[in-house]
Amino acid sequence: MKLSDISLKEIFQAKKRIKAMVRPTPMIPSQALYDVLGKKVILKLENLQETGSFKLRGAANALLSLSDKQRDKGVLAFSTGNHGRAVAWVARQLGIRCVICLSKRVPAYRVAAMEKFGAQVIQKGDSQDDAYEVALKLEKDEELTMISPFDDPFVIAGQGTIGLEIIHHMPDIDTLVVPVSGGGLAAGIAKVMKTIDPSIKVIGVSMECAPAMYHSIKAGKPVEIEEKDSLADALLGGIGLDNQYSYPMVEQYVDTIELVSEKETEQGIVFAWQHHGIMIEGAAAVTLSWLLKKKLTMMGNHIAGILSGGNMDTTLFYNILSKYVRPEKRL
Ligand SMILES: *Cc1c(COP(=O)(O)O)cnc(C)c1O
Repeated sequence: MKLSDISLKEIFQAKKRIKAMVRPTPMIPSQALYDVLGKKVILKLENLQETGSFKLRGAANALLSLSDKQRDKGVLAFSTGNHGRAVAWVARQLGIRCVICLSKRVPAYRVAAMEKFGAQVIQKGDSQDDAYEVALKLEKDEELTMISPFDDPFVIAGQGTIGLEIIHHMPDIDTLVVPVSGGGLAAGIAKVMKTIDPSIKVIGVSMECAPAMYHSIKAGKPVEIEEKDSLADALLGGIGLDNQYSYPMVEQYVDTIELVSEKETEQGIVFAWQHHGIMIEGAAAVTLSWLLKKKLTMMGNHIAGILSGGNMDTTLFYNILSKYVRPEKRL
């Protein structure tokens, strides 16, 4: 496999390019996690990013880097939700046509959000791979430019801008905890950390039920896994058997990928609400879920945890909270 990589320079260029469209998100110290771990933990609140997730950064960098011809024809994304939402939002800001292809597994509230942003949504099949087939056909027939959710150097550089913000505010960081699905988020941020200081530990977290990157790293090459439903629905989907960028970068820069259960993911969501008053989605909660497992020997003393998004169905959120939020159940 060809080793593809991006440089810190490209991440810095992304920062300049997306500045007007992306907000620097707050970083808050978590007293509650300090009480549990005895270690300083700063949470990076990408749930407060425009469109509700960090995916906006990569989408903005990719769309702002298109040629005039590509802009004229329009863009295409296949996505479990947050990437589609981000591409749709950026496309609308730039006046570019946008088509989103989804599997039928994607929850209705996520589809509605993309349609609200003016994207044309096409739902087909039970897996992301089925949606991908449709997208490939449209790419050819209508000359739309496909924007990958993770395996694209511009997307990875965009996500990497989170790393620049973290280093700026927390120069003494020694451990990064980051959710992993296709690996674009982890690849971009880990690149920043390891370039600046290779001793910074990068811990990726995925959900137990369908961790595609975890199995790929173990196998030494991208592998397919069976799709399952998960509370961390934004972490679902494969990494692509022809993965060129995110897989080699995760392999090189992420020290370990850890797994958390569905129950632990629920507890992460409840913890964020009870102690920080924020609603995060399952894919973001895995960061807290892993920290709450208290694997103290794996972490240093200055930890940054990425809360990657907050797009959660409010009924589901309510149902989870009502299971835990009673005086005797406080975590
Ligand atoms: C996409 C997404 C992730 C995973 O990002 P990858 O780049 O695919 O690893 C994590 N959390 C949220 C909220 C997401 O939308």
